[in-house]
Amino acid sequence: MRRGEFTKGCRVVRPRYLPEKLADDTLYLVENDAGEVYLVSFRCPCGCGDELPIPLRTPDPWQLEQHADGTLTLRPSISYRIGCRSHFSISANRVEWH
Ligand SMILES: [Zn+2]
Repeated sequence: MRRGEFTKGCRVVRPRYLPEKLADDTLYLVENDAGEVYLVSFRCPCGCGDELPIPLRTPDPWQLEQHADGTLTLRPSISYRIGCRSHFSISANRVEWH
């Protein structure tokens, strides 16, 4: 994947609990009892197989925007420094490489 390139879209699921193994191209939203999403988890889109749990609580920087058409945008971008060194953001369910 090159800088500025988009992948095809991911699907979004909202399981009560995360499965032991996450599927590819899938964004898992985990909600608390109040229905607030506090975690987004997915497999790294580069294909390395690592799972990236992104916490959405202060002081973590990430914010999830849920669009009217059901797609998601996650900001700021994700830089996976300890693994494959991928740097990307998720925009309306699509992975954008940086
Ligand atoms: Zn990766």
